Amino acid sequence: MAERGDWEEGSGRKGTVLYYRGSLKSCNYSCSYCPFGKRKLSQAQLEADKTALFRFVQEMEQNRDFAGGIQIVPYGEALIHPYYWEGLARLSRHPGIQAVGAQSNFSFSAEKMLERYRKRGGIPGKLRLWGTFHPDMVSLEEFLAACRELSRQKILYCVGAVGVPENLALLRRLREELPRRVYLWINRMDGLGREYTLQEAQAFQELDGYFPLQLQTHRAHVRRCRGLFVEADGRVKACNLCRRTIGSLYDGPGELGRLLLQEQREKGCDRRYCSCYLAYCNRIDIEELRPFQPYPAFRIPQYFQEAHEGLFVVK
Ligand code: SF4
Ligand code: SF4
Repeated sequence: MAERGDWEEGSGRKGTVLYYRGSLKSCNYSCSYCPFGKRKLSQAQLEADKTALFRFVQEMEQNRDFAGGIQIVPYGEALIHPYYWEGLARLSRHPGIQAVGAQSNFSFSAEKMLERYRKRGGIPGKLRLWGTFHPDMVSLEEFLAACRELSRQKILYCVGAVGVPENLALLRRLREELPRRVYLWINRMDGLGREYTLQEAQAFQELDGYFPLQLQTHRAHVRRCRGLFVEADGRVKACNLCRRTIGSLYDGPGELGRLLLQEQREKGCDRRYCSCYLAYCNRIDIEELRPFQPYPAFRIPQYFQEAHEGLFVVK
């Protein structure tokens, strides 16, 4: 478990994660509950998203003191766009950045995109991908095929799904078919309109031993959380839930260091609860997150990472 001393103010350190969300608001899927489904972006909007991403990447390249991880958390699907792979590749070459990743629906061509990532000098051993299974959009077999390709290419990833009680049988099959060394998470279903029954909660816990964390209330405590959230235009917030802007990444040299200071982050927390995984995973006082350290943001247990590290050489 990370201790308070692991937080090195002003530069970040092992365990610090910057979250980046571009201006992208579109997806190739059309999940009924999602506002980004099947929204097409114009070429100009895609160019603007690419420009914003590369500006962020360039800024991080210049912040040579930064140490930590970068997680891309798009509104929609980013990894079908080659420029995100270029951005990830460049970030992975930063000596202080230990892990880079993105949330995805895993609909990209792993073969093509990883080739691009490698060609741009991306370090495969630093990649941490997060794949969400959407049973209404893709068959179990298709999703598993994408997972197997990532395993074949020796990429670290986690997969998960929303805990829809009607999908239990399918999710059990997903667990059975997934490689054993892939963690399957289950997220609480927000639109359920009732509490889970005891049996449902137990059934999801059998699939994901950490599911009870999803059912707990995590009262906000900014002094016990780390991480920083960066918008496409450079505005920085304490986390993905907070609305208050504490500065801009592009305000000049040294700005990232200033924003990483605990006193700055404290000004940014305007929520009573860390009410989703991307928020509470940054808390250093949640004992159950210990197996996911130093980067719970990627949701990959450390023992899987260690087991995996022997499989290939990290450049
Ligand atoms: S895959 Fe994700 S981003 Fe795409 S429509 Fe579904 S929920 Fe939205
Ligand atoms: S709401 Fe966000 S900033 Fe506040 S304590 Fe929770 S994760 Fe940290």
